[in-house]
Amino acid sequence: MKILIINCGSSSIKYQLIDMNGEIVMAKGLVERIGIEGSRIKHETTGKDKVIINDPLENHGVALKYVLDAIVSPEYGAIASMDEISAVGHRVVHGGEKFSTSVIIDDEVMTAIEDCVELAPLHNPPNIMGIKACQELMPSTPMVAVFDTAFHQTMEADSYIYPIPYKYYEKYAIRRYGFHGTSHKYVTYKAAEYLGKDVKDINIITCHLGNGSSLCGVKGGESKDTNMGFTPLAGLPMGTRSGNIDPAILTFLMEKENISYEEMNEILNKESGVLGVSGISSDFRDLEIAADEGNERAELALEIFEKGVKKYIGAYMATIGNIEAIVFTAGIGENSGFLREKICQGLESLGIELDKEVNKGIRGEEAVISSANSKIKVLVIPTDEELMIAQETEALVK
Ligand code: AMP
Repeated sequence: MKILIINCGSSSIKYQLIDMNGEIVMAKGLVERIGIEGSRIKHETTGKDKVIINDPLENHGVALKYVLDAIVSPEYGAIASMDEISAVGHRVVHGGEKFSTSVIIDDEVMTAIEDCVELAPLHNPPNIMGIKACQELMPSTPMVAVFDTAFHQTMEADSYIYPIPYKYYEKYAIRRYGFHGTSHKYVTYKAAEYLGKDVKDINIITCHLGNGSSLCGVKGGESKDTNMGFTPLAGLPMGTRSGNIDPAILTFLMEKENISYEEMNEILNKESGVLGVSGISSDFRDLEIAADEGNERAELALEIFEKGVKKYIGAYMATIGNIEAIVFTAGIGENSGFLREKICQGLESLGIELDKEVNKGIRGEEAVISSANSKIKVLVIPTDEELMIAQETEALVK
């Protein structure tokens, strides 16, 4: 079965065509600057040369038509006809409280996804545009929605209710939802394989550390706590996002500097995090280099991040209990031996001990990086959200 995975952002589309027979990526690509001057598609079919198509793409519908044409192109495509695509898996950021699993998209599901727009005004609208465009282009192909929030729907109320007047939960559904669920789920299942156990029998902490970062406390294979919240702004300091800060800072700054709601949103989402502290970059590679060269604010930004991860590991060890493994994944988690070592430093008394030499050498590959004596295993597992979406899609349409 061949499955097309679509991940629509406001001006971009990432896609992959996966042959589930062997879970092989047949083609993948990225569409950028949709609706903006200079739009283009970078397309690559496995085993063929990369192509770049520079054409005006005024909306997601036009862009997806180009994507499908690229996939079936006799010259640089991967398949002969669109009929070979058995289903399309769509990444949808917010499923609210309505979706705790992936679902086949019908009219009712579409309405429910539209109802969630209020909860993710930047993310759900492009996801919806992608689904509608695909439905028009491939009317008889089943479509599946896979939600970033779904994995976290197993959290209990004492993890997801915020201590503000309860009426706001009832009125606006303000609660912790959590994000990166597809990634946390993927590495949880992989970790179970690694530990040689049924996923229902594992208690682990998964650390998705990338441009956006979140941790998840997994008990019996289910998410029981996570540190992103009502939005993906919460939790750790990230590339440009503040993560958790004292909420009174907002009202203080808005009053002192006469900052509007829109400006405050921009500051917290785009100008904060390690970029805000360091003043030089949101990219952790740049910060590691700058810190190495003696830039004190780059060093401070990294220390705040490391300490943040450490604190959440400690918190989930306390609340989840009997943790047997910690998993690092995503850009930083998979590639930065330096940050993994810093995060795990001082956690020996909790039973976490790295094999520093092994850790140093691991980049983007599955590995155990804890020492033989470590009570808790520390694993690096590269995430693969596209494959997870493909697997969920296949399971539903089969
Ligand atoms: P992601 O959002 O998962 O694609 O992760 C992207 C982030 O991973 C980048 O912004 C970098 O900060 C970080 N990253 C990637 N490779 C490395 C590395 N070798 N060392 C440190 N950070 C890295």
